Amino acid sequence: MPLSDVAHQPTAQAMVRQAIVHDRLPHAYLFHGPDGVGKQLFARNLAAALLCPGSAAGAAASDAAGREPDACGRCEACRLCRADTHPDVHVIHRRLNKYHPDSEVQRLRPIKIGVEIIRHFLINAAGRTPARGRAKVFIVLEADRISPGAQSAMLKTLEEPPPATYITLIVTRPDALLETTRSRCQLVPFVALPLDFVTARLRALRPDVDASAAAWYARQSGGSIGAALRAVDQNLKALHDALLEQWSSLAARRARLPLADWSDRAKAMSEFHKADDPDLTDTEAQRQAMRTMLWLSADVLAEAARAGAAGSKPVGAGAIPAARQIAAAIPPPVAADMITRIVRAEAQLDMNANVQLCVEALLHDLAALAAGERGAPTSLRF
Ligand SMILES: [Zn+2]
Repeated sequence: MPLSDVAHQPTAQAMVRQAIVHDRLPHAYLFHGPDGVGKQLFARNLAAALLCPGSAAGAAASDAAGREPDACGRCEACRLCRADTHPDVHVIHRRLNKYHPDSEVQRLRPIKIGVEIIRHFLINAAGRTPARGRAKVFIVLEADRISPGAQSAMLKTLEEPPPATYITLIVTRPDALLETTRSRCQLVPFVALPLDFVTARLRALRPDVDASAAAWYARQSGGSIGAALRAVDQNLKALHDALLEQWSSLAARRARLPLADWSDRAKAMSEFHKADDPDLTDTEAQRQAMRTMLWLSADVLAEAARAGAAGSKPVGAGAIPAARQIAAAIPPPVAADMITRIVRAEAQLDMNANVQLCVEALLHDLAALAAGERGAPTSLRF
């Protein structure tokens, strides 16, 4: 509930606290930075501060002096915010189309946040009096999905919102929005979290994940608790360990990477993606799953390269005999060729290549490279 609940975001904390204390809150904020580092939580805690009569932000200007910028955490407004049921907190996201009064809009695939959603849930709602009288707060999730038409429609609301209206747009990259939208918001940067902090939070949130697995998940997450949790939910460490064994067999020329096993794993993982986003098609979900297999494979090769570079020196808890075996059997230039080939396969998937054919060609080429058949395999050209 207090803004300080969001750790390791000193710039965001300083900018917003200063704005509250000096009564200079902008109408519209644009929170940008990696996924899963606290942007949404910070926006919700700011909403609570704006709606709590006990905070400097929520109190009348004449009564705000000396108050803390945080919500009190005890009043009725705070209770409603905590329960996610405050009628003046409007969280806008692409799946709201299902709650739009127009049945045509309800049937749209929620890939974008279209003009109908912005008009109904933001522009029109901003024009009404706050239900509890104090203020209205709008938080737009994945705002980089707002269509250009919808962005144009909301420009006036961003620039001159009705009284006591606060809007926060949340994006990964601010340049995904139109310049005209960006320039009407105050930009607040959020940054990747320290890996030690991600590891500790992960262990607190998922006590069943052991210390070394938590450290692995933190490294893969790039400093995002959200990404680390998603990886835990997909059990990616187990997948990584299985791939490491498969690559070790390939390096020792005992076996090719098994296509059927990869297909089965990708299919199982695609169920996770579909549960996470019911609007994904089977093919899109399988593509996402196969991309994960590919980057984990590239990661195994990178890990092997690190283990190889460390030579006979101890390399810490991450050193696994299989990684060393791979490093010993696959010379660095070949590993580099393999990684290049994997990256190209990812690019092919991004261009909607057939998943099965793309992976079949990749595994064939990797087997040829492992067997020492250098030079560009035929399927490399596309
Ligand atoms: Zn309160």
